[in-house]
Amino acid sequence: MAAIGDMFYTWAADADVLKKGECGGAITALQQYALKSGMVDAVLAVRKGADLYDAVPTVITNPAEIAETAGSLHCGTLLLSKLVKDYLDNNKTAKLGVTVKGCDTMGLIELAKRNAVDMDRLLLLGVNCGGSVSPVLARKMIREKFEVDPDQVHKEEIDKGQFIIEYEGGHKGIKIDDLEDEGYGRRSNCRRCLYKVPRQADLACGNWGVIGEKAGNATFVEVCSGKGAKLLDAAAKAGAVATEPANPKGIEIRGKVEGAMLNLGNKWRKKNFEALASDLWGTIARETGRCIKCYSCIENCPVCFPVAGELKGNSRMVVSGEVPPNPMFHLRRFAHISDSCINCGQCEELCPMDIPLALFSHAVRTEGDTAFEPKLGKAPYTN
Ligand code: FAD
Ligand code: SF4
Ligand code: SF4
Ligand code: SF4
Repeated sequence: MAAIGDMFYTWAADADVLKKGECGGAITALQQYALKSGMVDAVLAVRKGADLYDAVPTVITNPAEIAETAGSLHCGTLLLSKLVKDYLDNNKTAKLGVTVKGCDTMGLIELAKRNAVDMDRLLLLGVNCGGSVSPVLARKMIREKFEVDPDQVHKEEIDKGQFIIEYEGGHKGIKIDDLEDEGYGRRSNCRRCLYKVPRQADLACGNWGVIGEKAGNATFVEVCSGKGAKLLDAAAKAGAVATEPANPKGIEIRGKVEGAMLNLGNKWRKKNFEALASDLWGTIARETGRCIKCYSCIENCPVCFPVAGELKGNSRMVVSGEVPPNPMFHLRRFAHISDSCINCGQCEELCPMDIPLALFSHAVRTEGDTAFEPKLGKAPYTN
């Protein structure tokens, strides 16, 4: 019987899923089993759209279709928490299995704190996450730094500190540190992210720590909840996945890699926040002076939904039709989101004027976390 804190190497029993999966297809096989066995009524996962820069969230109710979502897409910068909320709102008693990154999990926890989602109806299969790359920057980086036509690339991965591409005629890898020194690489919010192993999910799955003959063909699964233990046990018993205890050396390596990633995240926080603090209000005024008031930052924030209407019309401090808006437009948004900003980067990513919005709200929220409870992304939530 698996228990919270147990660690396994896990892989799909089905040969096709094993092959299609990023690291042995454990997540795909577990999602398939959860759906087939009735543990969930639907699965929300991500599949490749037009190309590998196009990550498309998909709700699936037919277990046979889940294999289409196997594989990791690092150049699709999407957030799933609002989609989960919409699904639960529209399917009143249904249970949903979701593959989540750390930021997706955090978004859900923040929504749960606002009584906007019921965590009991969710089965969360978490993926470790070293970071994701904006699709636009990924194409530019592949063209300029890798000197490869981005449309010729059929596979990308992040492994051992490198961004690696496979394309017709070869493969190339470049160190992420070198890419980031030159303004490429992971999104700036991902560099500051400290949610590398999503232990708030039911299972935390990743490739860190898988060594020996299983490297590349199995996923390292950490059991994080009773629900996660139940799923893993039942799927193994039914023959959907195979498991073996994680190699102790692999556990040690995984711990070291996670520690190194957290140090790196803290280094980026220090660098970004100190630069901002030297002229906080000047920077905010200068940057938001480009705002065209398109509301994308509000509409795409995974945890901010009630304020959108309020900021759209005339209100006490915001004048309808004024572009760029009065700085109060932004200050009200920051004030509204500062208790829940999970640094997911969506507002910044989808701002047509490239305003570093996530940096501003993340800096405020991080400062708040030093003084107030509950800490960001942590229970208690009330439902
Ligand atoms: P599969 O059976 O192939 O299933 C993969 C699941 O991930 C599917 O459900 C798919 O829909 C979903 N998915 C794909 N792309 C996304 C996305 N962008 N957002 C949400 N869900 C998605 N592991 C590490 O140990 N270290 C890392 O640094 C690391 N970084 C990652 C970064 C990203 C953006 C992603 C998506 C995964 C990362 N992983 C990392 C996890 C690793 O790549 C594998 O997903 C994990 O080991 C499970 O492998 P699998 O074969 O069981 O997954
Ligand atoms: Fe991954 Fe964190 Fe970036 Fe989300 S914010 S994509 S969890 S690194
Ligand atoms: Fe302004 Fe950018 Fe927000 Fe649009 S997304 S309202 S341009 S800050
Ligand atoms: Fe994500 Fe921006 Fe909303 Fe923060 S304010 S949660 S970074 S979209």
